[in-house]
Amino acid sequence: MIELKDVRKSYTGGITALDGVSLSVAAGEMLAIVGPSGSGKSTMLNLIGTLDRATSGTVEIAGLDVGALDDDRLSRLRARTIGFVFQQFHLAAGVSALDNVADGLLYAGVPAAERRRRARLALERVGLAHRVTHRPHQLSGGERQRVAVARAIVGAPSLLLADEPTGNLDTAAGAAVLSLLRDLHADGTTVVVITHDRDIAAALPRRVQMRDGRIR
Ligand code: ADP
Repeated sequence: MIELKDVRKSYTGGITALDGVSLSVAAGEMLAIVGPSGSGKSTMLNLIGTLDRATSGTVEIAGLDVGALDDDRLSRLRARTIGFVFQQFHLAAGVSALDNVADGLLYAGVPAAERRRRARLALERVGLAHRVTHRPHQLSGGERQRVAVARAIVGAPSLLLADEPTGNLDTAAGAAVLSLLRDLHADGTTVVVITHDRDIAAALPRRVQMRDGRIR
């Protein structure tokens, strides 16, 4: 599902965020990416999510060499294959949970009525069938993140990428979100989670430790 070979990522100003990273993740795996702040975790996740391009090296996702795809094809790969969850939820304010989730299908070419039908199912899946008309400010942090998970999975991606998904949640809400991610993994989704939480990292089947832009 993921194949990174000697990937480097430099930013202008001479910052090397990734310094020759190779990583192989099989379809259906679940892993934690851990390491100190600034070690390159988010940079690596963004490259895996095709939100950014490597300076050198190769990134293959679902068998496709991402560096060889133009922006249109990359967008299609993202829309069909990859779901994202972020620490800050990134929900649209003033928009119902249902429409926030339905918008996850905007780029997948699904008609509006079908987007909403699938959004309802995704909200049921994360235990929020009773919150479909609520707007983000009417939801707890844990509920907001479950809406964000529903939005990430509404297109049935085979790869789910989560950047500190429990970082803004209390222990109970964080455990509920993690349990959702585990369920998705149990159903066959490949799940990559950046986390600072030692307990979460310890509980996952595989850990990738980063330091100074490298995997150690
Ligand atoms: P982590 O997620 O482990 O905290 P990051 O991947 O965010 O680490 O950052 C790795 C390094 O790259 C840091 O030194 C960071 O300051 C730098 N960096 C990240 N994004 C950018 C950017 N857009 N421009 C310049 N430097 C960046």
